[in-house]
Amino acid sequence: MRTRKTILFFILFLIAIETIFYLSIEHFNKVKIEKIKNSQIEKLSSELNIILNFNQKFANMIVDEILYQEKIKNLLKNLNSANETVKNRTRNELLNNLYSTYNRLLQHDFRQLHFHDKYGNSFLRFHSPQNYGDNLLEVRATVKKANETKKPQFGFEEGKVQNGFRNVFPIIIDNEFYGTVELSSSFSAMHHFLHRTYPYEYKLIISKDYVNKRAFKQIAEHYYIGSSVSDKFYEEKINECEIEAIDKKTISLIDAKIKENFSQKLDSFEAFVEDFKIKNEWYLVTFLPIFDFDQSINTYVLSYSKNSIINDTKQEGFSLFITLNLILSLLIILYILRVNYIQKNIFIKKAYTDTLTKLFNRSKFNVDLDKIIKEKRFCEYSVIMYDIDFFKKVNDTYGHDIGDIVLQEFSDVTKKAIRTTDLVYRWGGEEFIAIIESNSKENLILVAEKMRVAVENFNFTKIGKLTSSFGIAIPKKDDTKDSLLKRADDNLYKAKQTGRNKVVI
Ligand code: GH3
Ligand code: MG
Ligand code: MG
Repeated sequence: MRTRKTILFFILFLIAIETIFYLSIEHFNKVKIEKIKNSQIEKLSSELNIILNFNQKFANMIVDEILYQEKIKNLLKNLNSANETVKNRTRNELLNNLYSTYNRLLQHDFRQLHFHDKYGNSFLRFHSPQNYGDNLLEVRATVKKANETKKPQFGFEEGKVQNGFRNVFPIIIDNEFYGTVELSSSFSAMHHFLHRTYPYEYKLIISKDYVNKRAFKQIAEHYYIGSSVSDKFYEEKINECEIEAIDKKTISLIDAKIKENFSQKLDSFEAFVEDFKIKNEWYLVTFLPIFDFDQSINTYVLSYSKNSIINDTKQEGFSLFITLNLILSLLIILYILRVNYIQKNIFIKKAYTDTLTKLFNRSKFNVDLDKIIKEKRFCEYSVIMYDIDFFKKVNDTYGHDIGDIVLQEFSDVTKKAIRTTDLVYRWGGEEFIAIIESNSKENLILVAEKMRVAVENFNFTKIGKLTSSFGIAIPKKDDTKDSLLKRADDNLYKAKQTGRNKVVI
């Protein structure tokens, strides 16, 4: 019953410990992985910001250059002319005069140079000169804001033709506002820029709904393809890069997994990071939502990198779990061994102890003497056999219980009378035996006398005075255990025969 309870307790204890191990490791892993994911998101976000800030500065410099030229200034004063002929001529002249600037912008990964009049009407798109006249104030928040505030505005927006990271500047000549001009850079440009620095792949995906609402339909299809990560998104076509950090086949396998597991998650437009295993390699994909200028979100930039950090962290957690379990098993084994050892010792001690007097018993005497003989030290030891005088009378007069108490008291008194290194045993009944490390007759008589006198002087419970007799045997050359014991017994008998309360050697 007790062992069943112990086993049950042990199993419950194990389950509790294992649960604590598992939950703590799981928790620490989760926190660690969350940190890794956040740092990936922050990394991609700051990479993009650095490029955008650089582009803003660069665009600002170009606009300053354009507005510095007298000829261009005069042309731009015609932006709001009521005369269509003047406007057409201005359009052509701007195209001619700024075409090399536009080309240089393209070389520097910009893709739009777009002038608007002060009413927000498109005046000249360098990337699509035949499309003009449409009003942009309702569809292009950057243009509207720059128009209203007369201050430069920066931000991502889908346009009628292309999306772009927009930089829109007011055209102010001699303190008069004539309209706005936009220089925007493409994701493709950013992709090339990033590629030069980091061994990652990048993609821009943009909500189909959003694009279809804003862009000229046929033109949009020119710039986008359907995304392989979700049916609800377009993917921006990008110019081929010389460097290929991850091959296209792998990217398409990763995309298939994203589409299968995370296309729903993309609808949330929240930043997240996922890892994928493709042909025994781990890849990390970071999904970074891009805010539009009007703070709506319709776009993600995706970065793909070969990175096993999340899986490594999970593996570390697993290894820790195994290690903790090994330590626990070791502790349990040590505990069981120790309990067994203690129990075995208790058992042995019990087997060698006399229950009444708490002295060693005859079995222990045999073990100890055999050991001495085995160690060839027999001749260094002697034995004293001793016995209470007229003990039967004690039992008869005072009863067996008092007899027992007297036996206990007798054991204590005789044991205390000799050195602690001397070994004392209950031989049986009211007979005792001591092993003394000495073979000197005088010394042995002294030891036995000490015990005899101690008994004689002791006041026993109820009965008062008692005496005892002693027989000593010192080993001779040819003695065996039995012959030695026989001599001690004979000497004890002699002591009894010759008046008791004495020592015979
Ligand atoms: P002697 O002086 O010759 O030794 O006489 P004795 O009466 O002491 O010797 P005897 O051997 O005749 O009696 C020993 C008695 O000890 C007999 C037995 O009942 C008693 N005895 C033996 N073991 C125990 C015990 O564990 N408890 C008690 N109370 N008595 C015991
Ligand atoms: Mg006796
Ligand atoms: Mg006896």
